[in-house]
Amino acid sequence: MADDARPPRRDRAGFPPTRKSLGQHFLIDRRILGRIADALHLTGSETVLEIGPGRGALTDILADRAGRLVAVEYDRALAAILRERYARRSNVLIAEADVLEVSLSELAAGPYVLVGNVPYYITTPILFHALVPPRADRAVYLVQKEVADRLCAEPGTKEYGALTVNVGAVARAETLFKVPAGAFNPPPQVDSAVVRITPLATPLVTPDEERPFRLLVQGAFGMRRKQLRRVLRSLYSVDADAAEAALSATGIDPAARPETLSATQFVGVLRWFRQK
Ligand code: SAM
Repeated sequence: MADDARPPRRDRAGFPPTRKSLGQHFLIDRRILGRIADALHLTGSETVLEIGPGRGALTDILADRAGRLVAVEYDRALAAILRERYARRSNVLIAEADVLEVSLSELAAGPYVLVGNVPYYITTPILFHALVPPRADRAVYLVQKEVADRLCAEPGTKEYGALTVNVGAVARAETLFKVPAGAFNPPPQVDSAVVRITPLATPLVTPDEERPFRLLVQGAFGMRRKQLRRVLRSLYSVDADAAEAALSATGIDPAARPETLSATQFVGVLRWFRQK
């Protein structure tokens, strides 16, 4: 039999070998799994979208608490196992896909809440992907503690960056609790934390401004140690006078650095240039 025709190896529970390249660290602490589901505040009627269900530890809990559950798993063997496990549950859909390649709102097909013990090799891309409107009503993620710290960082700290500002412009991020490496099998090399992201009733940017805002913020943090007068000249291809005029009109010190600007101040700069 050719190698690729052989059925994949399985452990005693019937699972295929762990694929570390897919960030497979399975949560085995039942108390923490319950607390993650609790953090979603489900009423029983919501559509829940789960990213990376893996072996289904969190999925099992969500399937009982959600009105409808859609789980997106990239690993074909795990998706097949889950599809079989939930075959008789008409409210559970297992989608085999790369979460970054699908539209979350189209998959949910209506209002939804988002949850995931996300694969750490693509945490930041997933967080940005989930910012594309229409967004989830709320999202609960298990992430590296370092990412949780970046999400909740204050201006002027080393954790404060493009992720903080882009999320902060449209939502409130809060760290709910820490999760030690020993809660996973196999354990990751970092500590983790559960964060909840709740959209602002009134986002700081309009849907139309979101893309240029992201470009401004990412461009600025690419030069986080440079003075803003230099940063704006470079990002907007303007001369020194125009950069200084933008900063004085928005009440920002031209010698300040991007890492000290609040999301509101970035919005001010964006709007000034868009009006020009
Ligand atoms: N939710 C499970 C748990 O808590 O035990 C598994 C979490 S594990 C950290 C991340 C899961 O995401 C794995 O099952 C992995 O196969 C899956 N995954 C990795 N890359 C993915 C991608 N691009 N799209 C969807 N799922 C992905």
